[in-house]
Amino acid sequence: MNEPLVCAASTGLTAQAEDGERSAGASVGAVCGPTADHAAAAPAIPSVTPEPAITSERDLRFMALAQAAAEQARAAGEVPVGAVLVRGDEVIASGFNHPIGAHDPSAHAEMVALRAAAQSLENYRLPGCELYVTLEPCLMCAGAIMHARIARVVFGARDPKTGACGSVVDAFANPQLNHHTMVSGGVLEAECGAALRSFFAERRRASREARAAARGEAVEAVAPGEAGETAADNAANSATNTATPSSSEPPPTKPL
Ligand SMILES: [Zn+2]
Repeated sequence: MNEPLVCAASTGLTAQAEDGERSAGASVGAVCGPTADHAAAAPAIPSVTPEPAITSERDLRFMALAQAAAEQARAAGEVPVGAVLVRGDEVIASGFNHPIGAHDPSAHAEMVALRAAAQSLENYRLPGCELYVTLEPCLMCAGAIMHARIARVVFGARDPKTGACGSVVDAFANPQLNHHTMVSGGVLEAECGAALRSFFAERRRASREARAAARGEAVEAVAPGEAGETAADNAANSATNTATPSSSEPPPTKPL
């Protein structure tokens, strides 16, 4: 290797870095890290490929469709993750996360989109297709993506708990695997991450209100001082949620 692996952190996605405290460049750089290490050991397949200086309009357009799919998951009360599968400029299928409603641990957005696309094209292989997903794929989805021979995966927010594109493991970096999918991370990362954080913030708020309501009933019957404590507790929770920076509150994992 006469040159170090160039990752997206140094090449671009900087347009998004201006949007928030968790810059796309830094985040994608984190994704690139293990890949660079891996490349040093086996100079072969970087899973997160160098990106052009600015995320393409095409990537933004398809990621916006994945975001719309994620909103379908939110409407169903599921963790808002969405995916679209495209071939060229044609959207073949889309999917949203709904493992709870489907009683199906595999009903991640990517899996749903892969299944629908394979049915549509009547082929269990999907060569030449690209998968856009709002959250970094997990190991299960990474495996399915490789089995389907997807050419490229584009994801939005990183998932530091189950991400399999470099955040936790890098399933796409192993040169011994027989299919190599290109991976681009951090497209609309701030927006994709915000959708997830707002979902969980809302769920925590609803949970706090339910607990407070339950405690309130008990307080009326028992101790007047506890009402203040409950209010302070709620205020602290609220402040914590408001103050929690995105970097310390990463988009949680999809399965609940
Ligand atoms: Zn998954």
